[in-house]
Amino acid sequence: MRRACSRCIQRVTRSLKLRKLPKRFVTKLSINQMLVVSHMLLVLILISGFSYTRYQSEWNRHIEYSASLAKLTLAPHISFISTSVAGLNYANLTMPATKDLFGAIDDLEFLDITGQSDYSSQTIHVSYFKRLEYLWRADVSQEELKELENKLSQLKDQIEATAPENVIRHKKLQFIQNRVKREYDAVTESIFASENIYIPWQKSPVNSESYYLDEELCTLNIVLPLRNKNGGEVWAVFDASDLTDLQHSLLEEIIAEAIVALAISLVLIGWVSHWIVSPLKSLANHMRSDNTSENLNTLRELERSDEIGQLARAYQGLLTKLDHQLNILRTRSDTDPLTGLGSRYKYSRTAIPFLKRHLANGQYVGLIICDVDNFKAFNDIYGHTEGDNALSLVGSKMSEIARDSDLAFRYGGEEFVLLCARPEMNQLISFTQRLRTEIEGLNVIHAGNQPYGALTISVGGSAASLKDINEHFVTHQELQESMFNVADKALYVGKQNGRNQVTWSGCKQDHIKESA
Ligand code: GH3
Ligand code: MG
Ligand code: MG
Repeated sequence: MRRACSRCIQRVTRSLKLRKLPKRFVTKLSINQMLVVSHMLLVLILISGFSYTRYQSEWNRHIEYSASLAKLTLAPHISFISTSVAGLNYANLTMPATKDLFGAIDDLEFLDITGQSDYSSQTIHVSYFKRLEYLWRADVSQEELKELENKLSQLKDQIEATAPENVIRHKKLQFIQNRVKREYDAVTESIFASENIYIPWQKSPVNSESYYLDEELCTLNIVLPLRNKNGGEVWAVFDASDLTDLQHSLLEEIIAEAIVALAISLVLIGWVSHWIVSPLKSLANHMRSDNTSENLNTLRELERSDEIGQLARAYQGLLTKLDHQLNILRTRSDTDPLTGLGSRYKYSRTAIPFLKRHLANGQYVGLIICDVDNFKAFNDIYGHTEGDNALSLVGSKMSEIARDSDLAFRYGGEEFVLLCARPEMNQLISFTQRLRTEIEGLNVIHAGNQPYGALTISVGGSAASLKDINEHFVTHQELQESMFNVADKALYVGKQNGRNQVTWSGCKQDHIKESA
């Protein structure tokens, strides 16, 4: 059982390996190429099938028509031939008038009459070759010739033995002698023809049809039955070169039609594959670019009612969902959950645009770092939860004091950053002083922050104006980094100088401008 199973598995894997070949080939093709190749194959099969069937039926129709024409020309002679065969009348069949009769049949090449006489059942065979103008008996034998020779010599003897006075018998014998002589000549001629005339055509022994075309010799063969009692048939060979010319023109016509059909199909295939593939490409390009669901509205594929339209709308739906999720994520990562202020991530995103906007308006921009004094001690004394509450209070106070145009962030731990823009430098300084005072004014008891005994902050500030950009040829990013470092240093100085104070420094000058 196990062996049978493994053999079965081997067979399956082998067949899979074989199938890999076309699969590999197929996977290398683009949809466009696949469509063109498959449709071309289909169209080629269909067109060749249709053309072949049309050629066959048209060609057979032409042969049938020519055969019926040939039969019609032969039909008037069938009665005469049948009567002659029935009566074993060789004289009728081979006389010059009969030759003329056969010679007048259009396109006839050869005629062959075979049959059995009705009263003696004797076989008759007469042939006619039009080009050589020869009509002869094809059934004579040397014995018949000999018999006639004997008859002639007997007649000669009888004539010689008859007395010249017996005129009537003499004449009678001479008449018979002349008739036998003519018969003898005809038989001699027939033997000569049978032995020397080469007949290139052959009656098809297997073909039971009353007509058939010999394409090699370019002849149309007609076989018609005789009407005498013992039967027989006429085999007539007609020249079919007209029919072959017709065949060539029919072939040319069908090939031209097939080429036109193929060209039209090619154009259609090209159009259909373009119609399917180009929207897919345009969709793929949209997917590669940084599109949002809003600027996807211009996508033309959205208006289509087919599967591509469904795909485009599904993609639009997906983008809408993504935008929505991104907005949620951005709001979450932009906001500090403890204080409700902006997060450090939001600071990194908005600081430079803030600088650009307000410096361009000719305002002084202040970058203010606030750090809660001795906060580690606060946590140690009052616990982490109280520490969190205190940080939340500080954050609320900051957003309360800040203007709408200001931006406040919890930069990390107990450090806050504010971005403010004011027309005058003094307004920035007084804002930071108010900030420090208001936080101290919260009166959050902090025994570990001596000599103040309450929660206080140290503030380091750094200011810049459009002048700094123009004079020092710095980018907004460089300016923002420099401002942050300077404010941080100012904060450090404030801490060194006893905390709970505001320290300002110019952006490029590393000196302290003002302290609380
Ligand atoms: P300095 O006046 O020099 O700034 O002293 P400091 O103690 O405030 O400074 P330090 O950097 O030594 O300590 C900062 C403390 O802030 C340490 C940490 O316990 C506390 N802290 C930071 N983040 C949080 C927070 O989210 N909640 C609470 N409760 N405490 C925090
Ligand atoms: Mg700190
Ligand atoms: Mg601190």
